Amino acid sequence: MHAAGPVTLSLVIPVFNEEDSLDGFLVRIGQVFAREAQIGLELVFVNDGSTDATLDRLLRHQMDDPRIRIVDLSRNFGKEAALSAGLQTATGRIVVPIDVDLQDPPEVILQMVARWREGYEMVLGHRISRRNDSWAKQTSANWFYRLHNRIAEQPLPENVGDFRLMDRCVVDALLTLPESRRFMKGLFAWVGFRTTHVDYERPERAAGKSKFNGWRLWNFALEGITSFSTEPLRIWTYLGAAVSLVSFGIAMFIVTRTLIYGVDLPGYASLMVAVTFLGGLQLIGIGVLGEYLGRTYIEAKHRPVFLVRRIYEPKD
Ligand code: UDP
Ligand code: MG
Repeated sequence: MHAAGPVTLSLVIPVFNEEDSLDGFLVRIGQVFAREAQIGLELVFVNDGSTDATLDRLLRHQMDDPRIRIVDLSRNFGKEAALSAGLQTATGRIVVPIDVDLQDPPEVILQMVARWREGYEMVLGHRISRRNDSWAKQTSANWFYRLHNRIAEQPLPENVGDFRLMDRCVVDALLTLPESRRFMKGLFAWVGFRTTHVDYERPERAAGKSKFNGWRLWNFALEGITSFSTEPLRIWTYLGAAVSLVSFGIAMFIVTRTLIYGVDLPGYASLMVAVTFLGGLQLIGIGVLGEYLGRTYIEAKHRPVFLVRRIYEPKD
């Protein structure tokens, strides 16, 4: 049971070229938290290398809103890195990462806080439908979760994004994870803690447009799977064994047939099929090795996850 009474809440908001979404977001936050006297709010905006007027607008808002803190990254590091930067900067007893485009409805946070008061350390925002996503995004997401949860050590809850409430103990645990390639959804699930969820309907983006296209999502999925499973590496042993077994069978067949019926030359088709099939299989295997080797290489450099140009505090 987390005590009733006042609590500090940090919202972590990554923003990348979001000049059109900012005003609407702050208005909604104002409405939702206006009567919440028990919640001391802190808004940690992480400017993820925006090239539009996002930072200027944030600074202007900060002049008359002392709850706003701004972490200005040196370039675009991606949402995962921006979230890490925000978590590191946030000081609240509870922390909620939230998108600025109002796809994560701020009202839901109040329900999350209520669950937290019951004693939960992590409260997931669970979307009850994905009907605002395209068919392609829905199916690919489905396949990704099915595959990931089959082979990863810790299953990812479905239809759950970064929008969630975390107790300070969860945030501190996350901050101890040293990897530089950060697949946040996976890390969130990996740390564990007493978890529950609240349901919500995910609306469409309020303004601006999505930063995640098909190719980016594909890479995101690869990142997720390679970060939390080594199954794709190990499968080649078994695939290789299976193929060898089959070719051994075929070899026995051909030898026996040749011994009985003598040599006949045709066989070009089967030869080509075998050669190209095996060639393709080997290339895929090498590709998978490459995925992991590349990640190991990046990880071995120990580069920081993000670089901060400056942190703007309210009275700076
Ligand atoms: N975002 C970010 N850096 C990026 C891409 C996105 O900080 O490189 C932020 C973006 O400003 C928004 C949130 O991440 O606040 C979610 O992005 P978006 O709405 O484009 O993703 P979608 O909802 O389509 O998955
Ligand atoms: Mg969005």
